[in-house]
Amino acid sequence: MIPYGRQHIDEDDILAVERILRGDFLTTGPAIAAFEKDVAQYCSAAEAVAVANGTAALHVAMLALGIKPGDEVIVPPLTFAATANCVRYVGATPVFADVDEKTLAIDPVDVGRKITPSTKAVIGVDYAGNTCDWDALKATVAGKDIILVADSCHALGATYKGVKTGTVVDLTVFSFHPVKHITTGEGGMILTDDADTASRCRLFRTHGITSDSHQRDKANAWYYEMTDLGFNYRMTDIQAALGSSQLKKLDGFLARRREIAKQYDDLFAECERVTPLGKTAGCEHAYHLYVVKVPERSKVFSHLRQSGIGVNVHYIPVHLHPYYRRELGLGPGLCPAAEAAYEQIISLPMFPDLTDAEILTVADTLTGFINDLP
Ligand SMILES: *Cc1c(COP(=O)(O)O)cnc(C)c1O
Repeated sequence: MIPYGRQHIDEDDILAVERILRGDFLTTGPAIAAFEKDVAQYCSAAEAVAVANGTAALHVAMLALGIKPGDEVIVPPLTFAATANCVRYVGATPVFADVDEKTLAIDPVDVGRKITPSTKAVIGVDYAGNTCDWDALKATVAGKDIILVADSCHALGATYKGVKTGTVVDLTVFSFHPVKHITTGEGGMILTDDADTASRCRLFRTHGITSDSHQRDKANAWYYEMTDLGFNYRMTDIQAALGSSQLKKLDGFLARRREIAKQYDDLFAECERVTPLGKTAGCEHAYHLYVVKVPERSKVFSHLRQSGIGVNVHYIPVHLHPYYRRELGLGPGLCPAAEAAYEQIISLPMFPDLTDAEILTVADTLTGFINDLP
């Protein structure tokens, strides 16, 4: 089976992890600070806070922003559930705004319609590795006390108008799950240029216990204070060392992902029933996913799976999950563009080690089946 996504691990990665295992610190040692600095530098961000996974990064972002019960946070429905779940973790309400039917990124016009006096933040998802239309989103929230958060779990290394994800908006979240651009096994990070926000993220990462030595009683070195209700969301040094080693290869991974996308684009140019997604103006795509719209998606999906091609569907609209139907009374009709897209989308294999021969196999299997449909 050709998977839809897969990590690339080489000898350097293995040696980087081995060095940690032979050293003094398995967690919260120098590898964490080094990985944070590496990612911050790569993205030109002032601050980076490593955490246990992307979901924890989203949760910590909500905590650091002070989102609380009664607040609303606008999110898109075509995303991994964690984008909305993080809002529920802090007792606030996710409000779903529809997506643009061509790019499947959150639609700034619908965001505008969903803003109320309770709206505190908008989480835009850089879906598939194509960024949101951030300038339009900035214009939509201009003059209002609303923070923009980027869920860039799909888009490490993408750029928007020449700026790398990580600094396009106030707060950016990445995931280092094995299917993402670089992996730490499990891992996540929050990037921001604001030192106060970063220090609040660090606080919530470690139980809400202050690590600021100035606040500790000088005479009693054992003294510490828990000032907020935080979590243990720390990343280990084992993971961080893997991350720094992976980051060195990111530009190569991105180049190969873009090459694969170009080959798919060319192969599908002839087949008018296979429609690749549109791109946001000014975005250099990072291609976490290669998504196409097809007719008879369920049949196409089964045929490809039976042919040994590990396709996937990203995503079931989050507001249609039983939890959101039950808890928030949501359901079909809320986001028509996302719901219509959901019936048509399929994610094709996309990862750096995918071979040219496999790309041809995927494209031939897909177009062959579609051309035979009535
Ligand atoms: C992967 C992902 C997450 C969550 O990341 P984890 O590291 O798996 O917790 C959140 N949002 C999006 C859009 C993702 O793709």
